[in-house]
Amino acid sequence: MVINFSKKVRKNLSRILVLALLIGGGGLYLQRDKKSVQTSNAVTEKSINRYTMDVVFDDQTKRLMCNQNIEYANNTKNDLDKIYFHIYPNAFSRKEFAPFEKSEMKQAYPNGFNEGYIDLKNILNNNEKLEYKIKGEKNDLLEIKLDKQLKPGDKTSIDMKYNVKIPNSEGRFGYGDNTINVTNWFPIACVQDERGWNLKGYETLGDPFYSETSDFYINILIPQKYKMGSTGKVVSEKSDKEKKLYKIEAKKVRDFAFVLSTKFDINRDSYKDVSINTYNLNKEISGDVTKIAKDSIKIFSELFGKYPYDTYSVVASDFYIGGMEYPTLVMIDQSLYNKKDKFLLEYVIAHETAHQWWYSVIGNDEISEPWLDEALTEYSTVLYFEKKYGKEVGDKLIKTMEIQTKNQICENIFKPTTKYKDSTEYSLNVYTKGAVAFNEVRNKVGDKVFFDTLKQYYSTYMYQNVNGAKFVEMWNSKGVDIDKIIREYK
Ligand SMILES: [Zn+2]
Repeated sequence: MVINFSKKVRKNLSRILVLALLIGGGGLYLQRDKKSVQTSNAVTEKSINRYTMDVVFDDQTKRLMCNQNIEYANNTKNDLDKIYFHIYPNAFSRKEFAPFEKSEMKQAYPNGFNEGYIDLKNILNNNEKLEYKIKGEKNDLLEIKLDKQLKPGDKTSIDMKYNVKIPNSEGRFGYGDNTINVTNWFPIACVQDERGWNLKGYETLGDPFYSETSDFYINILIPQKYKMGSTGKVVSEKSDKEKKLYKIEAKKVRDFAFVLSTKFDINRDSYKDVSINTYNLNKEISGDVTKIAKDSIKIFSELFGKYPYDTYSVVASDFYIGGMEYPTLVMIDQSLYNKKDKFLLEYVIAHETAHQWWYSVIGNDEISEPWLDEALTEYSTVLYFEKKYGKEVGDKLIKTMEIQTKNQICENIFKPTTKYKDSTEYSLNVYTKGAVAFNEVRNKVGDKVFFDTLKQYYSTYMYQNVNGAKFVEMWNSKGVDIDKIIREYK
């Protein structure tokens, strides 16, 4: 994410009937390109979770009616009798839960607080009901009791039926006047790592997410008038006069997001075998945005290693915070789409694109160690400007960052998001000071070692989750005491 920049009824819709009508309706059928995803395989077929969903969006009530199946793999060394899922929409169910700073509530809810939530109907395993509990401080955690122990290496199949109410909000999850941002919206498996289950809720500061690389097979039915940008690629599109049905595949990604608008001007280009799509609300600037998206993918591919997916989408959104990354898709504050904010817009797009390497392909616990992806992403943004506009531009950015952090109390860039006072302190430490620290590492070790190590880090940990210790170990193996260099920035 990029924060604090320039401004700081249930309807009884029969899903099956609607889908059947559409499929059988002899509507327009578009077969999009089906290039296979070229990926090196650090995550095996056996260990990957697989989500299959049917989603119907009801425009009147701003609800999603969902059927979800998850083939869940036990990748731990222990038998499991329970599985946990984040149900983030419930963090929007009450004003006091809403993951926004108090001073930002007006921006987040320009029309006043409006609730969002997930309404679970049932959870089944082989047609047998499973017991479940809703937990967490914001009711955003789901505990499912398995009817029999899941052995290490084994998989279980869980079916869920639920509705999601999307709030009228201009945060990550919600709708405004122009777009409907459907993010962190479905029950997503919590990560179990060497520390056990990670059950943290939807925190206010930072990007409070941590997930596993998974495969997604999603059917989404939307009203004809909407255009959609999503994670993954559309493998087929069927439509009749009223509705459109998208069949989407997103393989080896750690989340799935989509954004809808009736107003999108879609602009397309490609970089090698990556199809680049931008969804714009200001047509005048669509071409510029596509160029920035393409340059970002090119520059980071050259610096760190190949972008492994075949689509990348930059989506203008009603999103007041700046920019937010999801796999193969980023949301960008639509108010930045003007000539006056060109630099800022380019900065935010470059930053969010760098997250495709540091967050999307290589994941980490963004609450415990936000610096691991954010500091590296912020420094990657500087590198983008350096590669595109020359060394002086990159140096200027670093100089500015040094000045910004000098006059601030910058006690520690390694704290979890929950230990920062507010988003300004968080941003100055983790992003700005973090980027300056990485620049210092580069100055100390030289370009060759610096970029070789980042390339090796990327290729070694593709699709996995890392932690600070693994990152430091990678540098140590190259004879670099990165800990010492970075810790000088405490
Ligand atoms: Zn970020």
